[in-house]
Amino acid sequence: MSIKNNLQHINSTLPSYVSLIAVSKTKPTSAILEAYEAGQRAFGENKIQEMVEKHETLPKDIQWHMIGHLQSNKVKYMASFVHLIHGVDSFKTLKEINKQALKHERVINCLLQLKIAKEDTKFGLSKLDIEHILTSEEFTSLKNIHIKGFMGMASFTEDSSIIRTEFKTLQNIFSTFQDYKTFNFNPSIISMGMSGDYKIAIEEGSTMIRVGSSIFGTRNYT
Ligand SMILES: *Cc1c(COP(=O)(O)O)cnc(C)c1O
Repeated sequence: MSIKNNLQHINSTLPSYVSLIAVSKTKPTSAILEAYEAGQRAFGENKIQEMVEKHETLPKDIQWHMIGHLQSNKVKYMASFVHLIHGVDSFKTLKEINKQALKHERVINCLLQLKIAKEDTKFGLSKLDIEHILTSEEFTSLKNIHIKGFMGMASFTEDSSIIRTEFKTLQNIFSTFQDYKTFNFNPSIISMGMSGDYKIAIEEGSTMIRVGSSIFGTRNYT
């Protein structure tokens, strides 16, 4: 199947409120252009350097999503153009994003990454961590970030009941913050689900899925 066919197939199965981020990490710009020509505009990358290089050469109406683990010292390279940062997992990173967004006179949209998997390899915040961030005085001074929701990654397992439970956890945390809104925190997005588990994620309330290999084919490395 071609990239175009893969996109059409996935899109035809999605509820209208679910958006599809095409995860193009490690893939060449030719593959991204093929998806672009099929109408796809939102792309996800997990390395800042790679995203910057692709942003420079590709059409400027592409929305770039940073989905990988963030190093604070590299935020500055994408601050002028990034559309949504999914993997914010520390207050320190959030403050750095705010600082770089201010330099570019923009507000950068962010998602807080929740740790829902048991695996030690996965990054993320707990519900308590988020409460600490939101109730701190410093948070109210962050005028150049806008937290639009949460992101999470389920365990790498064949056991779909574990995956489902982890997605439920994320949805539950999302709903506990539904009534808490400030000028820079107003969650409406739940970013969960990848090629192997996006159908379960949608059943459990996902509004944004991040799909790579089911669109572009398998990767040789990550
Ligand atoms: C690579 C990656 C994806 C996409 O993975 P696929 O299994 O290829 O769909 C989604 N989310 C994150 C955070 C990733 O790093």
